[in-house]
Amino acid sequence: MTNTVSTRLLVLGSGPAGLTAAIYAARAGMSPVVVQGIQPGGQLTTTTDVENYPGFRDVIQGPWLMEEMQAQAEHVGTRVLWDHISEVDLTRRPFRLSGDGGTVYSCDTLVIATGAQARWLGLPSEERMKGKGASACATCDGYFYRGKKVAVIGGGNTAVEEALYLTNHSHDVTLIHRRDSLRAEKILQDRLFANPAIKVVWHSEVAEFVAGGTPEALVGLDLRDVRTGEISRIDVEGAFVAIGHDPATELFKGKLKLDSDGYIAVETGSTRTSVDGVFACGDVMDKLYRQAVTAAGTGCMAALDAERYLAAQEYEALQAAE
Ligand code: FAD
Ligand code: NAP
Repeated sequence: MTNTVSTRLLVLGSGPAGLTAAIYAARAGMSPVVVQGIQPGGQLTTTTDVENYPGFRDVIQGPWLMEEMQAQAEHVGTRVLWDHISEVDLTRRPFRLSGDGGTVYSCDTLVIATGAQARWLGLPSEERMKGKGASACATCDGYFYRGKKVAVIGGGNTAVEEALYLTNHSHDVTLIHRRDSLRAEKILQDRLFANPAIKVVWHSEVAEFVAGGTPEALVGLDLRDVRTGEISRIDVEGAFVAIGHDPATELFKGKLKLDSDGYIAVETGSTRTSVDGVFACGDVMDKLYRQAVTAAGTGCMAALDAERYLAAQEYEALQAAE
């Protein structure tokens, strides 16, 4: 027999966006259910030090913060279930979602908080240096490299913004790009070229992340000139890969409006999607800020939007019955 979980509000994802939505929804009496997905706690569980989440003077650990958020969500009445959703039907009410284990989820409102994953170059040496100098988030980790030489890889808006941001901490920032022109908007390019702390290495890709020292840490990058194949080394202690993100929206293609980069499109100033009763929050709908605190903020908005939507629906049903 099929196991069915029915709820007024289903939250897809257990990162800061999903768990914050759950905390607000539970406190509004909506008895939400959170489906965790294959990364319980989300992206912050893949990092160590978090220094910019408000409320903590001392450095806190990403996995610990997410355990606390889950504990708070459960404490106020959220059911957190381990499952991964592989099918979604948003054409009928209540909405129906199917989990890998065969469970069917039936919900009046859905909050999508499935996040996004940074793209990496895919080098084994990059994998080994993650957390030891290789990062995909300058806003998150740039502070750890203050006063040190750093590099950014990529030529889009994100790469240029990250390079500019890093000049708050370093006077020696190298942008490495595989072509001879940037994809970034002109205004950002103008700021980049005007900044004396940034130099650009064109026509180059990273061949290796170079490790050294004890404990092991990044000491440099071997760069390959894509025209000649020649390898040269630059000394850097931090390397920020900024070659794009992939929002986790595969499930929703053709079912919800997505923007040109595949993020869930929401109405400006709200978390409402193209389907009534479906809300999106966090990195899955935000390609600009991508921070734990902004994800939590939009998670709060999604719960409030869902609560107001349900209240309006219930009011209309009452009016119709009178
Ligand atoms: P995520 O955290 O990505 O969570 C997505 C959730 O959705 C996961 O639980 C996943 O299992 C679930 N999911 C996905 N698909 C499905 C599915 N089909 N079914 C069910 N569940 C699903 N931000 C900061 O503010 N400060 C920092 O110091 C910082 N450091 C970072 C360090 C690293 C290494 C990384 C990668 C990110 C860092 N960030 C930091 C960014 C921050 O982690 C993200 O902005 C934030 O986690 C986004 O939250 P989210 O809830 O939108 O999504
Ligand atoms: P993006 O625009 O797709 O740019 C990715 C960059 O990485 C490109 O320059 C690309 O090179 C390079 N790249 C991709 N794969 C690579 C690889 N394997 N090796 C080396 N380089 C590689 O991504 P983004 O900068 O993250 O921006 C994503 C979207 O968000 C865009 O729509 C952007 O406008 C938007 N955004 C806007 C703002 C803003 O408005 N302030 C800020 C951030 C992001 P090529 O150029 O050679 O393809």
